[in-house]
Amino acid sequence: MATLTISPEEEKRVKGLGFLSNKGTDNFSGRVITVNGKITAQQMKCISEAAELFGNGVVTMTARLTIEVQGIPFDRIEEFRAYIAKAGLVTGGTGAKIRPVVSCKGTTCQYGLIDTFDLSEKVHHRFFEGYGAVKLPHKFKIAVGGCPNNCMKPDLNDLGVIGQRLPKLDVDACKGCKKCGVELACPMKAAKVVDGKLVIDPSICNNCGRCAGKCYFNALSNEQYGYKMYLGGRWGKKTAVGRTLSHIFTDEKEVMDTIEKALLLYKSEGKPGERFAETIDRIGFEKVEQMLAGDELLARKEEILAAE
Ligand code: SF4
Ligand code: SF4
Ligand code: SF4
Repeated sequence: MATLTISPEEEKRVKGLGFLSNKGTDNFSGRVITVNGKITAQQMKCISEAAELFGNGVVTMTARLTIEVQGIPFDRIEEFRAYIAKAGLVTGGTGAKIRPVVSCKGTTCQYGLIDTFDLSEKVHHRFFEGYGAVKLPHKFKIAVGGCPNNCMKPDLNDLGVIGQRLPKLDVDACKGCKKCGVELACPMKAAKVVDGKLVIDPSICNNCGRCAGKCYFNALSNEQYGYKMYLGGRWGKKTAVGRTLSHIFTDEKEVMDTIEKALLLYKSEGKPGERFAETIDRIGFEKVEQMLAGDELLARKEEILAAE
């Protein structure tokens, strides 16, 4: 059996850089950050070359869309990092910090209601990078999804954003058709003709936008796109489905600012070792919603980030 020579301190240090010990060996898996799961062919080529040059020739995908190169000897870690840096790639994604941002392929998906790669890349730069040195009470996961189909499970992340397309009914223009195109198209069965008029139940409608263009008389418009935000989801040793903020955002800037407020709230109110779901439960969801709607958290940003 191989003799392990790496001290626990060194192992911890390189874990902070994104190198996870390959159990029972002195080798490590280097976790390469893909921003949001989208890399260029050139970057893919660089990772493959690095896997052959420094690792055991194998790469694996993680649940958070990072790519791990296995079998890198401890003393080649820096060389590996320098090699992939040539393609603009870095390692990381561990610790009580913002974890790699994940995104579904909403940008190209036929159901996508928002440009998920664009939004998740902005989230990556402003928060994964921008808050990279900020120690949080525990890890914090952010996911961006293009529609309520939830392929990327934003509601099971500490914070999730989902694309929306809001139906708007002009009741006066509705003719109460025997076979209503909207009712037929609605996968949620939220739309129904009742007493000669279409009614959309807001407690069932998930703003999927599948009813767009389905009314025969233009009584329904679906011009407004938006974002729904989930808070406090988690999936692991303990599980929780995130709760939805009642406000549907229609402005990307507001979404980004609310993500920042959520991070500041977690940083200032969370107890060490506590996941965001637990912080929210302790404070109360309604109170959290109020705090996120106001400007105080952003006004206190410097003070919150300066705190130990
Ligand atoms: S969540 Fe919607 S937009 Fe994203 S991949 Fe799934 S179906 Fe497509
Ligand atoms: S198709 Fe349009 S006009 Fe006809 S019932 Fe449905 S919403 Fe009303
Ligand atoms: S947005 Fe989706 S759930 Fe809502 S009424 Fe239209 S099809 Fe149904």
